[in-house]
Amino acid sequence: MTDCILVTGGAGFIGSNFVIEWFAQGGGPLVNLDKLTYAGNLENLASIESNPAYTFVRGDICDAELVGRLFEEHHPRAIVHFAAESHVDRSILGPEAFLKTNIDGTFTLLQAARAYYGTLQGEDKSRFRFLHVSTDEVYGTLGPDDPAFHEETPYSPNSPYAASKASSDHLVRAWVHTYGLPAVITNCSNNYGPFQFPEKLIPLMISNALQGKPLPVYGDGQQIRDWLYVRDHCRAIMTVLEKGTIGECYNVGGNNQRANIDVVNALCSLLDELVPDSANRPHAQLITYVKDRPGHDRRYAIDARKIQRELNWFPEESFETGFRKTVEWYLANAEWVEHVTSGAYQQWMTSNYSDR
Ligand code: NAD
Repeated sequence: MTDCILVTGGAGFIGSNFVIEWFAQGGGPLVNLDKLTYAGNLENLASIESNPAYTFVRGDICDAELVGRLFEEHHPRAIVHFAAESHVDRSILGPEAFLKTNIDGTFTLLQAARAYYGTLQGEDKSRFRFLHVSTDEVYGTLGPDDPAFHEETPYSPNSPYAASKASSDHLVRAWVHTYGLPAVITNCSNNYGPFQFPEKLIPLMISNALQGKPLPVYGDGQQIRDWLYVRDHCRAIMTVLEKGTIGECYNVGGNNQRANIDVVNALCSLLDELVPDSANRPHAQLITYVKDRPGHDRRYAIDARKIQRELNWFPEESFETGFRKTVEWYLANAEWVEHVTSGAYQQWMTSNYSDR
């Protein structure tokens, strides 16, 4: 076995932040397996692509032959599984891809990891981990006075996305209990930060506000989400990878519950401050309420006391500091947003990388 880790979906929003953070913290060799769907963007990884410890492989986690070969060739000490279809609205319009990647893909990885684990001996065997990255959306929705989701909260997914992630969590759990695969699961709240595809709330609003377009807010805007800065999530994953107990789930969150409309208003005020000469000031005038999403969960809140107590992980960013960093990053990286929204990065990717 080598010191290498195999990451899936490392060209996406959280995965690319993880890969960057991994090398920033002096992590060992890392192989990134990513299909490069519309959400995968190798531009995110431009700062580390020439690092000799980094290997990119374009491919599908549903491809059992490829996944098996990667285990054989790289002998990883762990797999960190981010790859997924991740956007709730897309899952409502076309659930098939969600079942394929999130369920079949996780199944394929579990089977390959199980076969590989069976070949390991001694210290290599005790060291190996399968870390499955999941979401708090598997728990369903909360009423205003309900306690936050904890690790024993029953699963009650409401969207096709959440149901597919819940299914994948159950598969991982079953592979631990049935086959003894040394896996751990993290269930995290909503992330925000650099490199998030501008279909998600915060980057969508920044992108629209800068162009003077309407800021579409679903329903009454009172849906509550619990926000965590993406690098804090990445550090939590590294902590669980090194110190987590096999078979356990860890909820990850920053104790930052905010109504969507409050997030959009905070963004507008920040843009008024940071872009004082914008023709679109005050940006709050762009807010437009639109028809609510079907089955829209009302409130998510994460109780992260287990990972704090047992593994001593705490977020470093408050919502205010992380949010300001995020907005400043999008303002400084207008070209990235422009590439992503125009599809230019897909062309860039095709001309820079072929299948390997
Ligand atoms: P994302 O959509 O930005 O990135 C997903 C990545 O997976 C992309 O690079 C894509 O190309 C790749 N991918 C998709 N299908 C693939 C396949 N079949 N084979 C190989 N690669 C494939 O997603 P994200 O927001 O970075 O989320 C990453 C993980 O974290 C997901 O599992 C998601 O459920 C989980 N999560 C996300 C959040 C959040 O707020 N974004 C919160 C908690 C958990």
